[in-house]
Amino acid sequence: MPVGTLASVKGVSQDVLEELGVQILLGNTYHLYLRPGVEQVRKLGGLHRFMAWPRAILTDSGGFQVFSLNELRKVTEEGVTFRSHLDGSSHFFSPESAMEAQIGLGADIIMAFDECTEYPADSARMRQSMELTLRWAERCRKYFEEHKEEVPWREHRGPREADKGAHPTRADQTQALFGIVQGGMDVALRKESAERTIGIGFPGYAIGGLSVGEPRWLTREVVESTIAHLPADKPRYLMGVGTPEEIVEYANLGIDMMDCVLPTRAARHGLLFTSQGKISIKQARYSGDEGPLDPKCGCRVCSRYSRAYLRHLYASNEVLAQVLNTVHNLSFYLDTMRAVRHSIALGRGARFLSEVWSRPKP
Ligand SMILES: [Zn+2]
Repeated sequence: MPVGTLASVKGVSQDVLEELGVQILLGNTYHLYLRPGVEQVRKLGGLHRFMAWPRAILTDSGGFQVFSLNELRKVTEEGVTFRSHLDGSSHFFSPESAMEAQIGLGADIIMAFDECTEYPADSARMRQSMELTLRWAERCRKYFEEHKEEVPWREHRGPREADKGAHPTRADQTQALFGIVQGGMDVALRKESAERTIGIGFPGYAIGGLSVGEPRWLTREVVESTIAHLPADKPRYLMGVGTPEEIVEYANLGIDMMDCVLPTRAARHGLLFTSQGKISIKQARYSGDEGPLDPKCGCRVCSRYSRAYLRHLYASNEVLAQVLNTVHNLSFYLDTMRAVRHSIALGRGARFLSEVWSRPKP
């Protein structure tokens, strides 16, 4: 899932995202709640209609941003008080208000409000945090069941471009609320968190609290042990990963969904993922290079522009550099996942792809 934090994948318009084959986007509740505000989006018919994106959207609960962007947050049983990173104003998120916000935004998949346990944390702290997330998960589920009819889709149906191609029965459906497994880096706690979250009952499960500063081998170890306790017939979503090599690896472990700012954020810093490894387009060595960015990539950028031109755009701080770099990186990630799906469909799993990406860098 490409990340469209503020109802926009930075630098890339929705028609290009469709052409790239993006099936689902992620929006951040924390950012949309602060700007333009949930009520504003709700009045305009929900996120799909507001951003003219008829395909699927997932919103996170806001929990991760509250924990990662706010050093002055205060956590109680009731919820989290935090300060806006925009103007310092004080706000409060509870499981109920996070559900209310996500119902108002109207994404297809919404996430339970959890506490993202910091790393490192001792075992008492990991246990206490996991128990809090479980109590919050129950409150999320309860609020959602009582309010799921309040999605903005029903009131806003019309002959708008954004409505065309939308799922024909969307107006009759509700959102899907996913639960989130926590438990820090303790595999026994992860197992318990998975089992008790399944006990509450959700149509999909996420593994949260990873990619928070721990070494990659530990991320993999926790994912591998946690996924064994999650039902294979429900979507299993690993939040906030990863590099092209990592997403292939996680897909091979059984992960169905992932999101990451890496392809888009790295692109804006001139870091490009290619079949030959990572390229930093700002380097002077590319200033006379007439070859395509990635000779094996068929995207609209690689089939048209040279490395020399992309290097020039970046060095000149042209807006187009960010646009083209983002389009290529997204295309590379989406191609990677298409190859993974193809391989899985053939019964081969995703592992063979790891070899492709782990070749020595040029
Ligand atoms: Zn390309």
